[in-house]
Amino acid sequence: MINLKDRVALITGASRGIGKATALLFAQAGCNLIINYFNNEKAASEVASCAREFGVTSKLFQADISQKKQVDEMIRYATEKFDKIDILVNNAGIWKYAAIEKMTEEQLKETVEVNLLGVFYAITTTVPHMIKQRSGNIINISSTAGQRGEPFHSHYAASKGAIISLTKSLAAELAPHNIRVNCVAPGWVDTDMSHASLTGEDKEEILQKIPLKRAATPEEIAGSVLFLASDLATFITGEVINVNGGEVLCG
Ligand code: NAD
Repeated sequence: MINLKDRVALITGASRGIGKATALLFAQAGCNLIINYFNNEKAASEVASCAREFGVTSKLFQADISQKKQVDEMIRYATEKFDKIDILVNNAGIWKYAAIEKMTEEQLKETVEVNLLGVFYAITTTVPHMIKQRSGNIINISSTAGQRGEPFHSHYAASKGAIISLTKSLAAELAPHNIRVNCVAPGWVDTDMSHASLTGEDKEEILQKIPLKRAATPEEIAGSVLFLASDLATFITGEVINVNGGEVLCG
């Protein structure tokens, strides 16, 4: 029932993890892709060629989303190649440890620049095209940390909380232009970002707080992103879909 044929999606940080799983699921649904990657061109090329096996057009673009100029160039490239961007998935992010009393200005800025400003840059550059098209669909990847905080990752949690208020603000602001804006908020997902924690000494403590007693696969997060991008979700905007195995229930 989900068909994204002839649509165009730009996915940030799509060379691995949740971004990669989303790109491949979108490709299966027939969606053409712009795969943004930061530094691993080989991995991104592999994602693009796997996507093409589903018969879609898949382009790569290297950009550091924390650099507005690079994001501007990426959106220009995307609209030149495809004439439109139907779906923007703001997935790229970083998650770094920093106790508040030792957090340096550089650490704080890095997280805010990637996780929050990077999302703003992609949205501010894409939205004028979506307004012209009279349609659009923006999906931001937040986190459970954005709703209930996360010790020793306060800069991350604050950036992800801001993504939720950004989503809600823009859902109302852009609704008259037929642009929907939503969030997916994952709990623990087994990706490069979290693998060390999920296999390290805190493993049992982490898993016992998740009612389903395991971390998600990236594909389990991608499913909700695809749903929000699809015509099954045409009346959903300003929403946060939690995908966390029931974890928020446990505080
Ligand atoms: P990941 O580390 O595998 O992927 C993150 C991607 O973002 C990578 O491809 C990386 O290269 C890219 N990226 C980082 N900085 C970038 C920059 N400046 N410009 C462009 N790309 C950049 O991790 P993931 O788990 O797939 O994370 C995807 C999203 O999901 C992130 O926003 C993350 O915060 C969120 N998330 C992850 C978890 C988890 O447990 N893994 C939980 C909640 C939310």
